[in-house]
Amino acid sequence: NPSFFIFYFSFPAVHSPAMNAENSKPVVVRMPPSPTGHLHLGTARAALFNWLFAHHHHGKIIFRWEDTDLDRSDAKFEREIFDGLAWLGMDFENECELFRQTENAALHREKLGKLWDAGKVFPCFTTTEKLDELRKLAAEKKENFVFWSPDRDLEKREAEEKMKTEKFVWRLRTPRDRWIVFKDLVRKKISVNTDTIGDFAVARSDGSVLYFLANAIDDATQGVTHVLRGEDHVSNTPKQILLYEALGENPPEFGHIPLVLDHAKRKLSKRNVDPGICVLVKDFQAAGFIPEGVVNGLVFLGWNPKSTEEIFSMDNLVEKFEIGNVNPGAAQYDFEKMLWFNAQWMRRVEVGKLQKYFEKFSGKKIELPAIELAREKAKTLVELDDELKYLIGDPGWSAEILEHEKMGITIESGKKMLKIILELLEKISVENWSAEKIREISVEKIAALGVKNGEFMWPFRVALSNRKGSAGPFEIAEVLGKTETMNRLARAAK
Ligand code: GLU
Repeated sequence: NPSFFIFYFSFPAVHSPAMNAENSKPVVVRMPPSPTGHLHLGTARAALFNWLFAHHHHGKIIFRWEDTDLDRSDAKFEREIFDGLAWLGMDFENECELFRQTENAALHREKLGKLWDAGKVFPCFTTTEKLDELRKLAAEKKENFVFWSPDRDLEKREAEEKMKTEKFVWRLRTPRDRWIVFKDLVRKKISVNTDTIGDFAVARSDGSVLYFLANAIDDATQGVTHVLRGEDHVSNTPKQILLYEALGENPPEFGHIPLVLDHAKRKLSKRNVDPGICVLVKDFQAAGFIPEGVVNGLVFLGWNPKSTEEIFSMDNLVEKFEIGNVNPGAAQYDFEKMLWFNAQWMRRVEVGKLQKYFEKFSGKKIELPAIELAREKAKTLVELDDELKYLIGDPGWSAEILEHEKMGITIESGKKMLKIILELLEKISVENWSAEKIREISVEKIAALGVKNGEFMWPFRVALSNRKGSAGPFEIAEVLGKTETMNRLARAAK
């Protein structure tokens, strides 16, 4: 019947919270990665959106390993995914309900059996060679390949007879010419006619169930109310809605989050980006990112707060996250922006926390004042490490650095100024030694000498840091303490 439409009127309005309007069920989301590769930022973002949505609505999260591809699934990827997500602040392993798809095999088989009993699925005997041929033919005619099996209406007894001797796969007996219409939480209304779908495979002849069906059975039996996943799955959704219908279950709501594209507008992949650009969570870790920075950058790959606010902590996001504020348009990946977010968070996180991040990253335990100062100029922990070098150790001395053409400073005039500075600082006792105090008497001295700021500050600063770019001299002097400061100044003044 061509005028038959499936409508799911039970969907609440896009902005409405928490409850499924029809039956007031609390929110249950799922995060179902396949442990077949490294933790990619796309997966981390899907995890984040599910995490935020569930916490925002005080819902539940089910973490499911979709590990049915035995050849490619690997425990080392499970470890990496759990650890990477926990590092970002999402401890799925300890805070969520855990499932393993392979452990559900018996249930999958049982459901497949019921679908066969009800005539919803059938064994299809078309060989792969024949399918390839049909696919090629469609490609030549520039048509989409849609397969309707010649076996979909075989008598059950006849089919069972054939199953004894012939190879087959299980396919859904897809209804013809029906409109599957669903209201995507991100992309709004989506309609697909089943004539573009065909009879698709749902299980192997041994009864092991394929992705579409396993995923739908698990979501249905685990009470999932909202499926939030990447846009690459949007074409699977009509098939899964048909499977829900066949299983006699109500489908959950779906929200497909936009693809992340690289600078050339391709789907972001580690293979295509320059070596310095992070795509895997472990790349961010190695590059010295901190979790707060990565999370803040990730959420903006698709979501925005509908205001100019840009800095969000995880707690903040839980409060503000609305799935209706996810943009359906593709997200453009900008690594510079990720660095910018990280730089913001390097300055904002509690300094003791940054100290711990740095210790874990570098193995070095650094005093808080040095961290406090060095982080001002560091976008990452790698830069922090570099910035700390002259604060925690001797940077050495190379006299040429005193020279500054624009300011008219020569090695000789620089040394002369350093002698003045030495004499000046001698007046401050160890007890009164602070950036504030040093600034105070320096400002007075600059005025008394009638020199430009730079003529005083430049030699002072480079004598302490031995580099052209560094923190200011008063602050460095405070971190170094009087003895070390005087030693470095004296060495440079010689
Ligand atoms: N295992 C699938 C994946 O990692 C799950 C997709 C989904 O969310 O349904 O792509």
